[in-house]
Amino acid sequence: MKGMVYLVGAGPGDPELLTLKALRALRAAEVVLTDALVSPEILDLIPATAMTIHVGKRCGRISISQAEINRLMVEHANAGRMVVRLKSGDPLVFGRAGEEMEALREAGIPFEVVPGITAALGAAAAAQISLTDRRYASRLVFATAQHAAEKPASDSPALASSESTTVLYMPNDHYSQIADELLRRGMPDDTPCLVVSRACRAEQQFYPTTLRELPEAPGLPSPAVVIVGRVTAHHLQSNGHLGLEVPALQFADCG
Ligand code: SAH
Repeated sequence: MKGMVYLVGAGPGDPELLTLKALRALRAAEVVLTDALVSPEILDLIPATAMTIHVGKRCGRISISQAEINRLMVEHANAGRMVVRLKSGDPLVFGRAGEEMEALREAGIPFEVVPGITAALGAAAAAQISLTDRRYASRLVFATAQHAAEKPASDSPALASSESTTVLYMPNDHYSQIADELLRRGMPDDTPCLVVSRACRAEQQFYPTTLRELPEAPGLPSPAVVIVGRVTAHHLQSNGHLGLEVPALQFADCG
C-alpha cells in the first residue's frame, strides 16, 4: 500500500493561521519533512510519534539537497507512510513545490496540496495594509528579491509601475540592489515602502521608508518581506508601527 504526501502550507508563523486541513494533516502525520522557516509553535503541533526531519535551507545554505528531499518523500510514501511536507507560507509560492510534485508524479505517489497564508498576505494583515486599495494600486506583484540581487533585470514593467503593489520576498540584506533596480525601472524615489520582519510572530517589526532611503534601512531579523507601493504610505505618515514604539533594532541572522 502506497502512502500519501501532503504538501502543507504552515502560513507565516502564528499557529492560529493554519488551516483546519493543515492541522489535521499534521496531527495524522507519520513523517514530517519541514523547512527551516516553519515556526517552533507550529512544529510543536506535530505528534511525538511522528518522525520529524529538518530539510530546510538556512540563509541559502543547503542542509539537504532538493534531490534528497524528493527521495525521502518518495521513500517514506512508498513504505506506506503518511508524509507531510511542511513549508512556510503557501507551498506553491517560492517553495520549490514544482520540483517536488514532479518527483511525486514520476513515482506515482498520490499527493494533495494544502494551501497556506503566504508571507505577503500575512505581512499585509499584520501591517494593516490593503494591498489592492483601489485608490492606489490595480496590480499586485509577488517577486523574489534574489532576482534583483543576482540576475540582470528582465523586462517586467509591472514590478516598477506606480500602479502596482510589489511584495519582495527574500530581501536579505539586498536593500540597495532592490532600490537601485526599481529606481532604474522608473519607479519614483519617494515611493513608500515597508519592511515587515517576522510577520505574524510575537517579535514582528515594521520599518517604513521610501525607495530613496531603503538602502539605509536597518537589517531587521529574517524572514522579512518588503512591500513597495503607495498602499503603505500611511505607515510613513504615522511613522508606522501602528502606534507602537519602534522596537530596538536587531541585525538579521543571515549576516
Ligand atoms: N512559501 C513561502 C515563501 C518561502 S521563501 C510563503 O508563501 O510565504 C522565504 C521568504 O518568505 C523569506 O525570505 C521571506 O521573504 C518570506 N517570509 C516567510 N515567512 C515570513 C514572515 N513570517 N514574515 C515575513 N516574511 C516571511
